[in-house]
Amino acid sequence: MTNLIDMIEVNNLTCEYAPGTPALSVHELNIRSGELTFVVGASGSGKSTLLEALGLMTETARSTPDYSFKLKPTEDSSAVELCDYWQWDATKRSAMRSQFFSFIFQQENMFKSVSAMENMLLTTLQSSEREEQEANERIAEMAQTLLPGVVLTKPIMAYSGGQRQRFAFIRALAKPHRMLLADEPTGNLDPLKAQEAMGMTKAVVKEKNTAAVIVSHDIQLALKNADCIILIEKPLDAGGEPAAGQIEPSTVFRKKQDKWKSSNSELTEKQLRAVIEQSLQSLHTQ
Ligand code: ADP
Ligand code: MG
Repeated sequence: MTNLIDMIEVNNLTCEYAPGTPALSVHELNIRSGELTFVVGASGSGKSTLLEALGLMTETARSTPDYSFKLKPTEDSSAVELCDYWQWDATKRSAMRSQFFSFIFQQENMFKSVSAMENMLLTTLQSSEREEQEANERIAEMAQTLLPGVVLTKPIMAYSGGQRQRFAFIRALAKPHRMLLADEPTGNLDPLKAQEAMGMTKAVVKEKNTAAVIVSHDIQLALKNADCIILIEKPLDAGGEPAAGQIEPSTVFRKKQDKWKSSNSELTEKQLRAVIEQSLQSLHTQ
């Protein structure tokens, strides 16, 4: 059996866009291989901030003495400390990012001058003809599932937004990676298509023992597909103003059989749904 590993271990991370104004604080968080992790929380709670910090996209992490951010790409590799990532040489930095991560954004970021198939193939970086053939077959197979009967050779802009979003899923899953990071990737898909895309993502995570972190507003999609749900809460400060978003072990829920366990609770699906809905609601009424 494949061993599941803690691919990312974060302790005492504070993210801020302006000095002295924290946007997100993470006490303790592990992202595991073999798991589909969903990030939920009200608008402005710090979901994108978390994803961008994990994906080494923005330099928001504040350096504090007890902060640590460890990344372990595979079972056999040793963990790399990423606290000083932004001081690394630029080539080493981009190699680390491109080898480890694959991304899906809300906007699908396609190359406008080429076809759907070419867009999906571009990031797979095949080094031999055989690899190219394999990538072609893999992409065609995924496209058959997510877009049955759709011809893939038309220029990318000839497809609908929903179709391009599904191409973005396929492109991200086909690219060699250890961790997929996706920010609202199903925003413009109907529920059936969103579920199909999630099912495919989960199949890749399980088969390749990779990790996926998906930011989503869709609680139903999260409860149905996630192995782990991170709820970002945004409490009020002493003055009654919304404080930084917070991730504590008590708001990270992992599914064990039919229960959702955090550091201090064990909830049914219905109870977890109520906890999430209440957290979103409390912010809306602020
Ligand atoms: P979410 O994705 O959950 O909606 P974000 O991570 O985008 O939330 O935002 C979290 C907090 O950080 C919000 O208060 C937001 O205003 C702030 N924020 C996000 N991006 C920036 C930025 N580029 N500059 C300044 N503040 C930002
Ligand atoms: Mg966001």
